[in-house]
Amino acid sequence: MRLEKKREIMVLRQLMLRGITDERVLKAFRSVPRDRFIPQGRDIDAYQDHPIPIGLGQTTSQPYIIARMLELATIHAADRVLEVGTGSGYQTALLAELASQVFSIERFAELASRAEAILGEIGYNNVHVTVGDGSCGWEEWAPFDAVVVSAAAPWVPPPLKEQLAADGRLVLPVGGTFMQNLVRIVRHESEFREELHEGCTFVPLVGEHGHAR
Ligand code: SAH
Repeated sequence: MRLEKKREIMVLRQLMLRGITDERVLKAFRSVPRDRFIPQGRDIDAYQDHPIPIGLGQTTSQPYIIARMLELATIHAADRVLEVGTGSGYQTALLAELASQVFSIERFAELASRAEAILGEIGYNNVHVTVGDGSCGWEEWAPFDAVVVSAAAPWVPPPLKEQLAADGRLVLPVGGTFMQNLVRIVRHESEFREELHEGCTFVPLVGEHGHAR
């Protein structure tokens, strides 16, 4: 089956039928070649309805959960976005389709350089990848209109709230090691409004404002 067709089926069955309605998010999922970000030998799994191992004990999330996070983050074309946990780079590419500039931090140099290379090959030139502890955010490029964290935090890391622009949205999984909930925090001047959304399971956010190594 052609890859465009596989993407269309993924969008319909995994995203639209589960209630994802944001047209820009759906369009991004139709455009980004998920197969390119899956490590070799696993390409066959690229458009299936589950997380996929990407090496170093990490996984790229199920497409639905990525879509849900991106929908909650309500990203506009002019936005500057921080992504914590580059991983495979797949979500980074989706963000690059949705936003004007994407700043992405990954803890493992090996994953960061692999993701950066693929993003460059495909031609995303609005993405900046670095190696570091994303639980501290990326002060140099703050403030951000949206922050999306794709690793599970035991609590909301304070720097990520502080680095939000006015009306900025922070979306992240918060909870225990095996089960978390998606949380959305919206900044209104010095006030932060917090909402609890559906359950999920992510690999741990390891760092100063996350889990211990
Ligand atoms: N969105 C990614 C998900 C990768 S899994 C994808 O689609 O592939 C989460 C990633 O977060 C892992 O690669 C892990 O190494 C990274 N991570 C965990 N703690 C981190 C931290 N404190 N800073 C940056 N990256 C972190």
